[in-house]
Amino acid sequence: MKVFKFGGASLETIERIQQVGKIIQAYPDDKLLIVISAMGKTTNELENVAKNFFMRKREIASQLLYNIEQHHLQVAESLLGTKEHPLFTQLQQFFTEAEWTLGEKPLRNYDYYYDQLVGLGELLSTAIVSAYFNQVGITNVWLDVRDVFRTDDNFRDANIDWEVTQRQVNEKVLPLFNAVDIVIAQGFIGSTDQNESVTLGREGSDYSAAVFANLLNAESQTIWKDVEGLKNADPKLFPNTVNIPEIGFNEVIEMAYYGAQVIHPKTIKPLQNKQIPLYVKCFLDKDLPGTVIKGDADGRKLPPLIILKKNQVLITITSRAYDFITEDKISDIYEIFHDKKVKINLTQNAAISFSCCIDNNPEKIELLIKALHAGFKISYNEGLELLTVRHFKNGLLEELTKGRKILLEQRSDSTVQLIMK
Ligand code: ASP
Ligand code: MG
Repeated sequence: MKVFKFGGASLETIERIQQVGKIIQAYPDDKLLIVISAMGKTTNELENVAKNFFMRKREIASQLLYNIEQHHLQVAESLLGTKEHPLFTQLQQFFTEAEWTLGEKPLRNYDYYYDQLVGLGELLSTAIVSAYFNQVGITNVWLDVRDVFRTDDNFRDANIDWEVTQRQVNEKVLPLFNAVDIVIAQGFIGSTDQNESVTLGREGSDYSAAVFANLLNAESQTIWKDVEGLKNADPKLFPNTVNIPEIGFNEVIEMAYYGAQVIHPKTIKPLQNKQIPLYVKCFLDKDLPGTVIKGDADGRKLPPLIILKKNQVLITITSRAYDFITEDKISDIYEIFHDKKVKINLTQNAAISFSCCIDNNPEKIELLIKALHAGFKISYNEGLELLTVRHFKNGLLEELTKGRKILLEQRSDSTVQLIMK
C-alpha cells in the first residue's frame, strides 16, 4: 500500500487534474490511498465565506459561496463532459449543507463555524476527482474521511484520536481495498464524536496523508508538488539553490523548527514512528528524482541548508534593578511569553539582560511588552532578518552576510544563526 497526496496546485486546472490521472495510471500494481486537498485557492475563498458569515454579512457570504459553487460545477462538467451524472447530486448536497450553515445565527465561536464551512473545499475536490477517474477507467472508491478520522473538538487545529481512528481505518478503509485498488479521501478534515466537522490546521493535508500512512502501515508516502522536490533554500529568496536527493526525518524537523516552509511539521512524526519513507515528487514530471525523507538518510551528502526568516524583532529585556538574570527571572520571562503566545526564535543571555528574536506581530508584541514592563526594562530593534545555516561551508556565510550588519551570532558545529540588519 502506498499513500499519495495531491495538493491544491495539482488540481488548479482541468489539464492538471488530467495529469494527476496519468500519474496514478503509472502505478497499476499498487494499492493506493490518495489524499487530496481543495482545488487551487478554494480554502482561502472559503475562509472569506466563513468570515463574512460570522460578521453577519450573510449576503456577501452567500455570494462568495455561489461563486465557489459555479466554479466547481464548471470544472466537473468540463471533466465529465456532461451534467447528467450522479456527481452533481452529491455536489448539490454539499452546497445545500453549507447554505444551511449560512442560514444559522452564529451562536457558537468562530472556529466552530470555520470548520463547518471551510472543509467543503476538500469534499468537492475529492468528489469531482473520484467521479472523473472512474469515468476514465481509474476505478476508485470515494471515502468521507470524517467517518474515519476521529478528533477532539479543538476546532481549526483538531487532534487525532489515534485509537478510534485506527479502529475505523481497520473497519471502514481496509475492507474497501478488497474490491478496488484506489481509495480517494479528503485531506485536512475529520470529525468529533458529535459528528461536527473539524479541520487539522492550514496545509494539513500532508499530515492527513501521514496519519493514513501510519495507520495503514503503508510502504511509503508521496507528496506530489509543483516543484522538483526539497531544495536547500527557498528559490524565491536565494539564487543557485540545489535539490536535496535524500534527507533524514530529524533534519526536516530541524529545518521546520528554524522556519523553513517545507512540509507541514506535524507530518513527520507519524511516518518516523513507523519508519515510512516520505517522497516529495513533481507531478509535472514524475520521472524527476525528487527527494526522499527517511530515517537512515546519509547526512554527509547534504548541501548547506539555508533558512531565512524576515521581519524579525530583537527584544532585549533588562532587570530594572540591574540584578543578574538568573533562572528564576528567566522562568518569569518565559511564562510571560507563553501566556502571550509569542514564539521565541532565538535567545541569548548576558549578565543583566536576556535577548530574544521573535516574529514581528505588532499586536502581540504590544501585549507582551506591557506584561514584561512591570519587572523589566525593554528595548527593541525591528526590521531584522534571522538567518540559519546548517552544515555551513567556509565562504558561504561571508557571501550571505556581505554588506549586512550582524547584531547577534550563535554557532555550533552544525548550525550557525545570525540576526542581521
Ligand atoms: N486545503 C487546505 C489548505 O489549503 C489543506 C491543504 O491544502 O493541505 O490549507
Ligand atoms: Mg490547500
